[in-house]
Amino acid sequence: MAGIYIHVPFCSQFCTYCDFYSVKETGQREAFTESLIREAEFRKDYFKNRGCRVKTLYFGGGTPSLLSPASFAAITKSICNFFEIDNPADLDEFTVEVNPDDASPEYLSALYLAGARRLSMGVQSFTDAHLKWMNRRHDSATALNAFGAARSAGFQNISIDLIFGFGSLTEEVWQETLEKAVELSPEHISSYQLGIEPGTKLGRDYEKGTYIPLPDESSYRQYSMLQEILTKAGYIQYEVSSFARPGKEAKHNSSYWNHTPYLGLGPSAHSFDGSERHFNPPSLSKYLLQTNWDAFAKREKLSERDHFNETVMLSLRRKEGLDREHLASRFSSQLSSRFFSDAARLIKSGELEETGGKIRIPSGKLFLSDGIIRELFQ
Ligand code: SF4
Repeated sequence: MAGIYIHVPFCSQFCTYCDFYSVKETGQREAFTESLIREAEFRKDYFKNRGCRVKTLYFGGGTPSLLSPASFAAITKSICNFFEIDNPADLDEFTVEVNPDDASPEYLSALYLAGARRLSMGVQSFTDAHLKWMNRRHDSATALNAFGAARSAGFQNISIDLIFGFGSLTEEVWQETLEKAVELSPEHISSYQLGIEPGTKLGRDYEKGTYIPLPDESSYRQYSMLQEILTKAGYIQYEVSSFARPGKEAKHNSSYWNHTPYLGLGPSAHSFDGSERHFNPPSLSKYLLQTNWDAFAKREKLSERDHFNETVMLSLRRKEGLDREHLASRFSSQLSSRFFSDAARLIKSGELEETGGKIRIPSGKLFLSDGIIRELFQ
């Protein structure tokens, strides 16, 4: 199994908290489409020697829903030609991230017609004042309409994103947000604590003292509410930030966690062929001028220690946990034995648990996963 990720690097306005690579030059969308198709053609044998077939396709960004239906269809058709996909609608998963403000019934029908079967909708909040503060383009009513329009267009698999843990979010409003989300009944919900990234507006406001973050105990309570309310509503938490109806776990994202090969196309996209990694620099202007894709891409060299720490991090973020035997067989005994002794200490203190050879972070401690995982890095 293999996956393709397409990074669409356009946003018509920037959200206060976001540090993803994107630009406002939406006038370059057609030129981007042409470059992307050229890059896809150049990489068409990427998976061939590995004997794996493309099973998932993901348009992320940036804002993929700023692409015109014609560009979206042209990219999809080219990917199918170059990577021998008979029918994109038959892929295991074909996801497009959409901004609710772009999700008109016509646009959504065009995505469906081109083969997309899963949407990831950046809802973030159902409170207009919060959406405005985040500098999102949409309001709550637009998000609700977009969700309904997506169902009418035929999408049976929709994920929504929600943000918690920011200064002005009260528990009461967070509860209402979660109840509204459950009422909509999406197949998948991803929810993230608002992070303060340097270089963003939020980061600058924090530096100036005009943004006061929520105390950790309050964010922790909001995370517990997220777990409780969604679990009660029948969602299964399968990763720190991800909840799904049974069988609706995100397949494309799960492949990153499972070390499945993936090809990233577009500026700033990362790729992994099963052993080597490369990434495209985050520059649309350079991307548009490219003719030599191999020279453009930067190789990433990971040491055994890097691989080890990455495996620990990706496995412990998932409810499934880390397989003791797999870790011991894949890495040097020097790395794994030190890890197992650190893990034993954390099992004793309740930060980790182990059953059936799987080491995992207990549900009640998942909010603290970053710190726990850091303690296990070698
Ligand atoms: S729309 Fe998405 S990618 Fe663009 S600025 Fe907002 S969060 Fe970032």
